[in-house]
Amino acid sequence: MIFSNEQMERYSRHIILKELGVKGQQKLMAGKVLIIGAGGLGSPAALYLAAAGVGTIGIADNDTVDLSNLQRQIIHTSADLGKPKVVSAQETMNAMNGEVAVIPYREKIDSANIKSIINDKNYDFILDCTDNFPAKFLINDACVMLKKPFSHGGIIRFQGQLLTYVPGRGPCYRCLFQSPPPAGAVPSCREAGVLGVLAGVIGTLQATEAIKYLLGLEGLLTGWLLSYNALTMDFRKVKVPVNPRCPVCGGEASITTLVDYEQAVCNL
Ligand SMILES: [Zn+2]
Repeated sequence: MIFSNEQMERYSRHIILKELGVKGQQKLMAGKVLIIGAGGLGSPAALYLAAAGVGTIGIADNDTVDLSNLQRQIIHTSADLGKPKVVSAQETMNAMNGEVAVIPYREKIDSANIKSIINDKNYDFILDCTDNFPAKFLINDACVMLKKPFSHGGIIRFQGQLLTYVPGRGPCYRCLFQSPPPAGAVPSCREAGVLGVLAGVIGTLQATEAIKYLLGLEGLLTGWLLSYNALTMDFRKVKVPVNPRCPVCGGEASITTLVDYEQAVCNL
């Protein structure tokens, strides 16, 4: 692949990095990332991945833009109210970088469609930018079953967390949390609130993990849970072991088909 003058200029600050160079930028341009959720976490992730020139970016969400989203979902604007989030996200990403192929999936992910969405473009890396436990467990299980790496991100109030799963290289989300909490046991963001900029911090870190994975760089959050407290400004990394008895990635896995858990979904 030979870069045009425009590409050399657009990506010059990447190309000058010795860890990236022309070859690294080519890897990003050949990369395929699926973002599930075009909300608080998905907005900054989608913007930075498009800016970085990741060649194919899928984005899945069945929601429309609501006024209460705009406090944190920075890929959408007041002019997008009522528009499908995937359409609004695609327009913003392509306005910034027209070279990126944005693939919108205006669907709510469930056990019936998630594998076909992941397999649609044979995505290299998945970002869990959802806001509810059923989706988080579904994405984890589908990625373990399809042997796909993904970044888990979660936020509530002033607290965020992050973990990266790479098949064969560390624990999955279920190694930490065996099953979703009962519906109603954990408040949603609608009930509990969330600092808007916190979504920007965690979603941006998720995009960083995707970019590092595509580049083949070390230092991913595999086997580490990173938590961030926006009030105290503490970033903490806690080592997380593989659970050999994990119901989905363990040696004698009991979960071999996808499960649709029931839970009220908030609008992250
Ligand atoms: Zn596991």
